[in-house]
Amino acid sequence: MFCENCSATMRDGSQFCPSCGTKVAGKADPKRQLAELYQRVVQDELGLLATIEEDGDVLFEHPDLGGLFISLNAEKDPECMRLMLPAFVVDATRWASLEDLIRICNRVNVKAKLATLTVHEDANDSVTASVGLVLAAPDTSPDEALLRGVISRAMSSIKAAVEKFSDELQKLNPPTA
Ligand SMILES: [Zn+2]
Repeated sequence: MFCENCSATMRDGSQFCPSCGTKVAGKADPKRQLAELYQRVVQDELGLLATIEEDGDVLFEHPDLGGLFISLNAEKDPECMRLMLPAFVVDATRWASLEDLIRICNRVNVKAKLATLTVHEDANDSVTASVGLVLAAPDTSPDEALLRGVISRAMSSIKAAVEKFSDELQKLNPPTA
C-alpha cells in the first residue's frame, strides 16, 4: 500500500506512514465500531462511564450493583447483546445449600423479564445475572436507537432479579440480631 499524502510505500496494515506520519484513513475496524456503539449507549442512556477492553468487551461500574460488562463478538454474532453481572454473590453456599440456591434462581428466573440468574458451582459458588438478547438480523450490528431503547430495560431487569434473589436469600437465613 502507498501513503495517500506522500505516496511512500507502506506495509499492509500500517496505521501511520513511516515517511511523513500521515494516519491511514483505512476501513474502520468493525469490532471497535461495535464496542464504541455500546460504549456510547451505556454512557448516554445509563449515565455510567464505560471502557472498552482489549478483547472488545465493554465494562462499566454500577453504583449499586458493581462491575458489569457487555460481552461482544463482532466477528461471529454482532447482533447479540450479552449483558453480564458476574458473581454478584460469591461463596453463596456459605449462606445456603446449592439446592436452595438453584431453587431461588429458578423462582426468580420464572418471574424476571429479561434477566437470567445462574449458579456456578466451580467459580467460588458464585451467582451471576445476565441478559442475552438478539437485536438484529444475523451478522448485522444492532440499530443504535433500538439499543438505546433496550439497554435501560435490560439493566432494570438485572437489578430487579438481583434484589429478588437477595430477598429470597434473606428469608432463608434471617440475619441474627
Ligand atoms: Zn506519507
